[in-house]
Amino acid sequence: MGVADKEWRIVFLGPPNSGKGTQAAVLSRRLAVPAISTGEMLRAAVAAGTSLGQKVEGVMRAGHLVSDELMAEVVRERLAQADSAGGFILDGYPRTASQAETLDGILADRGHRLDGVVFVDAPEAMLIARGLARGRKDDTEEILRERLRVYRDETSSLVDRYATLGVLSSIDGSQSIDQVSAAIFTALGVDGPGAGA
Ligand code: AMP
Repeated sequence: MGVADKEWRIVFLGPPNSGKGTQAAVLSRRLAVPAISTGEMLRAAVAAGTSLGQKVEGVMRAGHLVSDELMAEVVRERLAQADSAGGFILDGYPRTASQAETLDGILADRGHRLDGVVFVDAPEAMLIARGLARGRKDDTEEILRERLRVYRDETSSLVDRYATLGVLSSIDGSQSIDQVSAAIFTALGVDGPGAGA
């Protein structure tokens, strides 16, 4: 059985600008499952001016988290779409303990479980420098630091949660994109030829 025949359900965890979005996209091609970025979904909603977009715009600009209730709706709806029935990679969800419980519930309802949680981390100075280099509108150093603070306060404890569950792979995100991808493939046991090879 090739890696693309398995139903992979993976979460990417890590601070802003750790490179997890890039890596989620690489792994998505490798495993032939969709990469679902809640940040991208919300940015698209803001750009399109939908009612969701109007609700979340201010919170996002401040670098804060959208409410767990709203995110539960967004993720529930997205994971109900046909393309994620055979697996998915979540990038940017869950971000709080409550969101992790919501995800557990969604999976349990279908008799599924997470196959892995990929935790990509890098030193704080590198995260800030990458964020500034990225040059996204509104991402001042102050906002980047606020996003890191929110990550530390709300999200970082999920690392312990998933480590305890035995599904965590910790990856050094300070390496080159290709090195990080290789480390992730090794951690998940998918270094052989994949769907995108
Ligand atoms: P990201 O691109 O993942 O850094 O997400 C950009 C922004 O979208 C975050 O700073 C939050 O304001 C919002 N966001 C994305 N995912 C979530 C989530 N799981 N929970 C709450 N807010 C989120």
